[in-house]
Amino acid sequence: MATSMNLATWVQRNGRLRPDSPALAVGATVFATWAQWAATTRAIAGGLAVEYALGQGDRVAIVMRNRPEYLEALFGIWHAGLVAVPVNARLHPDEIAYILRHSGSRLVLTDPEHADDVAPLVTTVDDVQAAIVAPGADWARLCESAERALVDRCSDEPAWLFYTSGTTGRPKGATLTHGNLLMSSLSYFADIDVIGPDDSILHAAPLSHGSGLYGLPHIAKGAVSVIPTSGGVDGAEIAALIERWPGLSFFAAPTMVKRLASDPALRSADLGNLKTIIYGGAPMYLADLEMALVTFGPKLAQIYGQGESPMTITALPRAAHADREHPRWVAHMGSVGTTRTDVEVRIVDEQGAEVATGEPGEIVVRGEVVMSGYWQEPAATAETIRDGWLHTGDIGSFDSEGYLTLHDRSKDLIITGGMNVYPREVEETLLRHNGIRDVAVVGKPDSEWGEAIVAFVVPSDPAAPPETADLDASCLAALARYKRPKEYRFVDALPTNNYGKVVKRELRERLRAEPLPGH
Ligand code: AMP
Repeated sequence: MATSMNLATWVQRNGRLRPDSPALAVGATVFATWAQWAATTRAIAGGLAVEYALGQGDRVAIVMRNRPEYLEALFGIWHAGLVAVPVNARLHPDEIAYILRHSGSRLVLTDPEHADDVAPLVTTVDDVQAAIVAPGADWARLCESAERALVDRCSDEPAWLFYTSGTTGRPKGATLTHGNLLMSSLSYFADIDVIGPDDSILHAAPLSHGSGLYGLPHIAKGAVSVIPTSGGVDGAEIAALIERWPGLSFFAAPTMVKRLASDPALRSADLGNLKTIIYGGAPMYLADLEMALVTFGPKLAQIYGQGESPMTITALPRAAHADREHPRWVAHMGSVGTTRTDVEVRIVDEQGAEVATGEPGEIVVRGEVVMSGYWQEPAATAETIRDGWLHTGDIGSFDSEGYLTLHDRSKDLIITGGMNVYPREVEETLLRHNGIRDVAVVGKPDSEWGEAIVAFVVPSDPAAPPETADLDASCLAALARYKRPKEYRFVDALPTNNYGKVVKRELRERLRAEPLPGH
């Protein structure tokens, strides 16, 4: 039987236990104490329920850049027994509209930077009744509403719809329950770090994704959540914040870790307060990892996870990074670590049978952290969770010690600068251009971005291929900026198999055969 557990209880508990300690900070400045955040949470929950007439289980979307109001919104939503839909704020308005429609969101909480994009969606997306801009007058009123007591939630009830690009090209909402997120938080303590109230978590990466999830175990234990003033990853700022906030951890995609490791501000900073840099989401090159270990010391931990198993499949803890004398250190560093405490991981063949140690196959996961399914997508759920095992779409192999190495992704996903791009959405956009007959989009290894997007284009008229600026404009009109190809290659034909299916593997191999710039 599902037990009762609403994650929002953590803020109330800290509000009583350490009322005057900092809970939320912007840069070096305290934004709210635990008592203040707890009171704001109760008020927001009251306003959502009474003023906006939202009932238990209703969805509320958050379209904001990182700011303290983000976390106030998230916990206010949970406190009221509602379901949060954190949307990647860098998406194109049409993409945001799709997620709002698909999730049936009734309300959008946004910020001044996104207000103009979000405002029209109140009329074009049926279920959305209003958009509240935070900070702003309506938000201020919401934060002063009559307070509401914590609404009970069962551990199997949805808390967070984590929209992620899937195999169909349309984003799908991994339904993360209160129980899933509790398990993800507890296994952070088991495998990554023990957290206390004197610690802090810096949100340099988007709260709508991994950084938000890693924030939860910190909030549970009364650590302070710090939002960088720059809103992003800036070496000098991070160096100053490490000096300001004790026990500081943050998540960064490998691209960012690499950039920070060579930043002079961080190389000369006093890093005594730095606790852990969690990296993951895409492969890390060994040369980059070695440079990061020189700059930061053994304060790196790698996590391999996905939205469907919120950041919990395997991990390579700090201790493994520090153990340089280990004869297999290089192999360990090239892996994604060992199985997390709360899951079972297997490598299976196409029939679902476990393969021998060392053999590659699809990585499948089972455990209480695994999502309950894709929101309103029973067919996709049945395809992804089979016999209780989540099929990750990643190809990997276990070595005899139990270290997992990732080889490839069977799903076609490209990960560029830590952001997921499903090629089909880019291909569909480009195919609307009448100068293009055929197109295939793949990722090319890139020392800066992890992968760079490359479009192989068959022009309608080989004598007059379209201008690349023109193709860029088509992408920018329909997609988020980061999804635009970095390179277009004009070809006479795409490689196809007997069934006429494009063999992308061949295109990827062609790109991989080229030298990697900077390596
Ligand atoms: P998302 O659901 O957006 O977090 O994307 C998850 C995907 O990112 C996984 O299925 C992997 O393909 C990839 N990924 C996650 N963590 C790692 C890692 N540590 N190393 C390499 N790839 C990773």
